[in-house]
Amino acid sequence: MWGGLFTGVLFFLSGGLEGMPWYHYALIFLASVFIDVDHYLAAGLKTGSWRLGDALEYYQMQGLQVQKDQHKGIRKVYDFHLFHTIEFHLLIALIGIWWQPAFYLFIGMVFHTLLDIFSLLHRDYLYMREFFLSAWLWNKVSEGFD
Ligand SMILES: [Zn+2]
Repeated sequence: MWGGLFTGVLFFLSGGLEGMPWYHYALIFLASVFIDVDHYLAAGLKTGSWRLGDALEYYQMQGLQVQKDQHKGIRKVYDFHLFHTIEFHLLIALIGIWWQPAFYLFIGMVFHTLLDIFSLLHRDYLYMREFFLSAWLWNKVSEGFD
């Protein structure tokens, strides 16, 4: 929904179809919506179920857990979401230097991530997101050595 709004605003700002061809808007929109596929993947891997309904229920339960934990003063990273990491954004931006469609995907992703950050900040939940793929990998590796 926010992706659609953003694409609409951009459409006006850049002068409609004279500013940019329609498929650039489509790329921005798709990126800003489908970046959340990593949430579905994370839920699927955790629960072993690939039903969308189960993924939604998983995040509903997690939301309650986050609230409970926060009351107890527990502030931790919950799930890892690959497409939301800084490294993944940089990768798409790099590809965008040589392959233009990726540049528009990057714009959509940045917009989505900024909105995520604002909403997490608003609820004081920023700590629950892992922003760095490298930090996550490092934790996995050092867990393995324990
Ligand atoms: Zn998101």
